[in-house]
Amino acid sequence: MTSEFGLIARFFSRPVPGTRLGVGDDGALMDVSPGQSLVVSTDLLVAGRHFLPEVDPWCLGVKSASVNLSDMAAMGASPRWATLGIALPGSPDEDWLARFSDGFHDTLRRHGTDWVGGDTTAGPLTIAVTVLGEVPPLQALTRSAAQVGDDLWVSGTVGDAALGLRCRQGRQVLSEGARRHCEDRLDMPEPRVSLGKALRGLAHAAIDVSDGLLADLGHILTSSGVGAEVIWDDVPLSPALRSIPVEERQALALSGGDDYELCFSAPAALSGRIREVAANAGVSVTRVGRILPAGQRVVRNAAGRVLDVPWRGYDHFDSGGQS
Ligand code: ADP
Ligand code: MG
Repeated sequence: MTSEFGLIARFFSRPVPGTRLGVGDDGALMDVSPGQSLVVSTDLLVAGRHFLPEVDPWCLGVKSASVNLSDMAAMGASPRWATLGIALPGSPDEDWLARFSDGFHDTLRRHGTDWVGGDTTAGPLTIAVTVLGEVPPLQALTRSAAQVGDDLWVSGTVGDAALGLRCRQGRQVLSEGARRHCEDRLDMPEPRVSLGKALRGLAHAAIDVSDGLLADLGHILTSSGVGAEVIWDDVPLSPALRSIPVEERQALALSGGDDYELCFSAPAALSGRIREVAANAGVSVTRVGRILPAGQRVVRNAAGRVLDVPWRGYDHFDSGGQS
């Protein structure tokens, strides 16, 4: 049986090239770059609620890092440091820990982020990650900065992770290639960190799509005191999502969660620039609508007909919420 300190030393202590002092003391020491604001974000992942307990541990490590890096992306921030709080049931499986830790660490490293500390205890499998990043204070992408007349944009494609979850649960049959695409998006979301940074000074408001496109867009609208029109036919969908019946396609694309794409608003005059910086960041972006005055929240098809869709996503404290 390995002690808590043995576990930390073997699995949770990694080199921290960008940090003065990492794991091993009572706290880590970090130097914030001059002129930058510190951005902090925490996410909690509970087994059985946010992930299936039997999920591959490497993927779980990747996802635990990615969902937090995605919050940095949505702020336009450069992620710099992360901590991991973890509760582990029973006597920890060393192979599981090694794989989890590799997935977590590899993902952080790919985004220039040092794993600087955390806390380890016994208990029902729970993962709490905090990521710290930097952004020039006046260039942070907040939820409250959307303006009437802005274009509304989405990166990548939406609905794939929700479709992947259905496959995983045996509720959906797809071709092998489509199934793999969707399950990969569910297990290993790609945080849009480069895009978020590239949108500094261009985008007005931004959010990452974790609870469903309309629900997360709704947060921007509420915070900014504006409305929006979304054109359903312009919402970017993968071939996998296009292969399922239109009503389910619509529900998953507009209200499915876990895609970790960025939804953002930007002045219409900057659309060329937005496409340019997104191409440089290696991410596709699609204009899906525009910001309207407060009180109007509408999804239309290309012919202008209003679609009856719910502007809400998953809510952990509302049993009527949908996933
Ligand atoms: P303390 O009792 O002072 O809280 P701990 O024994 O909990 O210290 O942790 C010792 C060191 O190990 C600290 O530097 C802490 O940040 C680090 N640590 C503990 N758990 C983790 C973890 N899951 N990931 C990274 N570092 C960890
Ligand atoms: Mg501790």
